[in-house]
Amino acid sequence: MNKDIATPVRTKEILEKHGFSFKKSLGQNFLIDPNILRNIVSHADLTDKTGVIEIGPGIGALTEHLARNAGKVVAFEIDQRLLPVLEDTLSPYDNVTIINQDVLEADLNKVVEEQFSDFDDIVVVANLPYYVTTPIIMKFLLGKVRIRGMVIMMQKEVADRITASPSTKAYGSLSIAVQYYMDAEVSMIVPKTVFIPQPNVESAVLKLTKKAEPPVEVIDEDFLFEVARGSFVQRRKTLLNNLQSSLPEGKMKKEQILRAFERIDIDPGRRGETLSIEEFGKLSNALYSEFKNL
Ligand code: SAM
Repeated sequence: MNKDIATPVRTKEILEKHGFSFKKSLGQNFLIDPNILRNIVSHADLTDKTGVIEIGPGIGALTEHLARNAGKVVAFEIDQRLLPVLEDTLSPYDNVTIINQDVLEADLNKVVEEQFSDFDDIVVVANLPYYVTTPIIMKFLLGKVRIRGMVIMMQKEVADRITASPSTKAYGSLSIAVQYYMDAEVSMIVPKTVFIPQPNVESAVLKLTKKAEPPVEVIDEDFLFEVARGSFVQRRKTLLNNLQSSLPEGKMKKEQILRAFERIDIDPGRRGETLSIEEFGKLSNALYSEFKNL
């Protein structure tokens, strides 16, 4: 087996050889601990029948572990300067494709169709660029990309928000949007010391697994997320107050909002943070029906 890229010594050698300098604006914090990498990969349950999508391979630290354990790896890297580095470090692996593109601009369903037509099992594994953690996750979920799940490193604070339960401080529209599609659990907490350069915050590896069925049937998913976001605009305010000012329709029709609450027997004086996803689903359906006169 090839020597790991992610040892501190080898990483420094690679960076020096290619004269690479980190760009903070691209969230470049590279992993320099092979044990953490093995641990991340073990949570992804890879076989040679698995296709992996990686975001931000950097110099290939995680990519090589993925290549050793999966059938195929497709990695999006925005930084063109890393292409020659990756060509060098990943030369022993013939099952890796690098796409030099901002993942947020990519047509993910098309990439999956083109790259993974032979794969039924597809998973996202990544040490994410932290400045775009949420948009990346939501792009995969809202885009209904054909993935089994995600094993992703991120700021611990964001992982806490995603996995939060009702009536906790971290619970909010992000918890609802992700948990609507995915079962979410923190697989491990990761200290700053395993990165170069060290990030300012503690990290966590989050495991997301697609739910067989959504927890509640909703008429319009986008509207559910709109209602959820609107319910948390001012956490201390009641649902009624928040929705009245945040829903575009709400401004005009307070009575309709109240009627919707009545239909589902939820007190409009509650705060958003006390509602479960199921309750948000019911609320969004009732509001939707009121507004559309169903
Ligand atoms: N996987 C490597 C590791 O673990 O050592 C590097 C992870 S580093 C936290 C994030 C990587 O994402 C960097 O290589 C950065 O250039 C890349 N990146 C940043 N923004 C991106 C974007 N919008 N699309 C694709 N890659 C991006």
